[in-house]
Amino acid sequence: MRLSSPTLADVRIDLHTHSRASDGTQPPAEVVALAAKAGLDVVGLTDHDSAAGWSEARVAAHETGIVVVPGIEISTKHNGAGVHLLAYLPDPTYPGLMAELDLILAGRTGRLAAMLGQLHDAGVDIDESEVMRQVGEAKAIGRPHIADVLVAKGYADDRGDAFSTWLSWGRPGYVTRYASDTRAMVRLVTAAGGAAVVAHPWGRGSRRVLDLPTLASLQGDGLVGIEVDHQDQSGADREALRAIAADLDLVATGASDFHGAGKVDHELGCNLTEPAQYERLLEAAAYNAAAAGAAVPAVGRP
Ligand code: AMP
Ligand code: ZN
Ligand code: FE
Ligand code: FE
Repeated sequence: MRLSSPTLADVRIDLHTHSRASDGTQPPAEVVALAAKAGLDVVGLTDHDSAAGWSEARVAAHETGIVVVPGIEISTKHNGAGVHLLAYLPDPTYPGLMAELDLILAGRTGRLAAMLGQLHDAGVDIDESEVMRQVGEAKAIGRPHIADVLVAKGYADDRGDAFSTWLSWGRPGYVTRYASDTRAMVRLVTAAGGAAVVAHPWGRGSRRVLDLPTLASLQGDGLVGIEVDHQDQSGADREALRAIAADLDLVATGASDFHGAGKVDHELGCNLTEPAQYERLLEAAAYNAAAAGAAVPAVGRP
C-alpha cells in the first residue's frame, strides 16, 4: 500500500492499542472492528510483551478491510527508569527477542504472588484464582488485571483509582518486575527486522532519562521513532518532542494507547500518525527486515 498519493492524505492511522492479549478489555478482533467503526484505516495492535493477539487481529483485518500493523509494547529500563518500547513488525520468532519476551512475561507472572501478599497485609482480600479469571487467555499479566478485581470487589472505583490507591509505585501493592535493557532491546528489535519506537517518552517515569542526547544515542542503535502525540504528554511536551524528532530525523507517531473500557480518555483515533510518518516507519521496518534476512510479518490482510 502506497500512501504518498494525494488521495491518501486523509488516511487515519492509530499505531498503539491493547487487547485482551494483554491488559485491554476487548478481544483483538473487537479492537480491529472498533477501529474500523471509529473511521480508522490503519491500526497498530501493540499488546504488552506479547504477539499473541496478532493472528486474530489479522483475520479481523481481512473481514473489515482495515490495515493492521502488528506490534509489541515491550517493557524496558534505561538508567533505572521504565521505558516502553514499541516494536513494529518484528519477527516474533527471532530467538533473542523471544527469549527476552519470555523473561519479561515470567517476571509479570512471578510478581503476582508477592503483590497479592502485600495487598493482603494491607487488608485486601483477593486471591490468585480471581486475578487469573480476569487474565483469561492473556500471556502478559498486568496490574490492570488486579485493578479490575479490586474494582469488582469494591476496593476501588475504577482502574485509575485502583492504581492511585493500591498499585502505583509507592502504594501497598507495588512490586517491581523484570524489564529488558532499552538499548539492548532497540538492537534486538532491529535485528528481528522490526522498527523500534519509544512509546510516550515523556509520559510518567521515563522523562528524566529520555533527553535529546539519549534519544540520539539510541538512534545509533537503530531507534526509528518516538511517540509524540499521546494522552500522557502535554501540548508543550508534544511540541518539544516534535522538534526533537525533526532535529534528529526520527519518525514522529501519534496514537490512542486504547485499552477498551479500562482507560478513560484514550479513545481510538484520539491521536493520529501522519501518513508520511507511517510510510517512513514501514520503510524502516522493511529495510531492517531485508538487512536481517528476517521473515517480514504481513501488514494488513493475510
Ligand atoms: P504493568 O504492565 O503491570 O506494569 O501495568 C502498567 C499498565 O497499567 C500500563 O501499561 C497501563 O496500561 C496501565 N495503567 C497504568 N496506570 C494506569 C491508570 N492510572 N489507569 C489505568 N491504567 C493504568
Ligand atoms: Zn497497558
Ligand atoms: Fe505504555
Ligand atoms: Fe500502551
